[in-house]
Amino acid sequence: MKLSLLWIGASTAGPQSSTAWLWRALAACVVAAAGAALARAADVKPVAIAIHGGAGVIDRAQMTAEREASYRAGLATALDAGYAVLERGGSSLEAVVTAVRVMEDDPQFNAGRGAVLTHQGAAELDAAVMDGEGPRAGAVAGVRHVKNPIELARLVMERSPHVLLVGDGAEEFALEQGVVLVPNSHFRTELRVRELEQAVREEQQRRKPAVPPGPGTVGAVAIDRAGNLAAATSTGGLTNKQHGRVGDSPLIGAGTYANNESCAVSGTGQGEFFIRSVVAYDICALLQYKHLPLAAAVHEVIHGKLQRLGGEGGVIAVDRDGQIAMDFNSGGMFRAVRDSRGRREVAIYR
Ligand code: ASP
Repeated sequence: MKLSLLWIGASTAGPQSSTAWLWRALAACVVAAAGAALARAADVKPVAIAIHGGAGVIDRAQMTAEREASYRAGLATALDAGYAVLERGGSSLEAVVTAVRVMEDDPQFNAGRGAVLTHQGAAELDAAVMDGEGPRAGAVAGVRHVKNPIELARLVMERSPHVLLVGDGAEEFALEQGVVLVPNSHFRTELRVRELEQAVREEQQRRKPAVPPGPGTVGAVAIDRAGNLAAATSTGGLTNKQHGRVGDSPLIGAGTYANNESCAVSGTGQGEFFIRSVVAYDICALLQYKHLPLAAAVHEVIHGKLQRLGGEGGVIAVDRDGQIAMDFNSGGMFRAVRDSRGRREVAIYR
């Protein structure tokens, strides 16, 4: 528009002066555009994403170099996919859903394909997402045929008046929304079948309750350029769990929480303890009401309240200043972080 006006102006002058005038005008446009870009760059807020792939401990003795490299590669792929969304100006909501979806499709993790099995031998999946703007939330529990439960959780938030849908009702909603459905065998891997058989044997011998497997429930938290926070968590729950058992991951405030006024949190560990301790909300409440720094709030809940109750696990969290905390009271937590200040780390043990 501007250029065409300039061109009309130029064409009314003589041929010589019209070329010079046009060049001067074009140069002015370039300078103005560069100025605007610089101003925008100064305005750009830092972005950050952290992800986890579960707090289940893999004995260092069992962790071959190959296995470790493979987990690290899986985490890095999810991390970079989520970060790419933030880098191109996308929302934290889109970033956390993207990172979690990548891990749901990676059979190494206990979410989507590769999820652990119930006592009856089926995969029953839970997921939740929360957008700190609003805040608004969506979750699903006990779904057996939804390829990417995190996408269904997002649809519950965006296209239904509800927060949590379970079982058949959640799957009917998935059908209505045109979500990809798969047979339950899609989720089953040989490793998870072996883990279930072992858990059942141990239970028969020692009557031990269901225990967390190796890696792990997946989750992500992020802050975008607009300063919005988001959290997402997806899981198959616990190996050998009773059919119908729901953990903390899809329960807003327990395993997943986000609020732009405080922080965004995704947890992993024995869900029953996270539910009783309302871990994710508690951390954000310590920021909002007690003005604790993020790391101190996370430490207080994970090494204080949760541990006193006998709960094992950890969280990833981000606050509204873009600070990240990743802490756990278990032997390790599969985790990774990347931000616009140049930090990029992938870690498993302490
Ligand atoms: N928190 C999940 C649950 O109890 C399990 C995990 O994080 O490994 O369902």
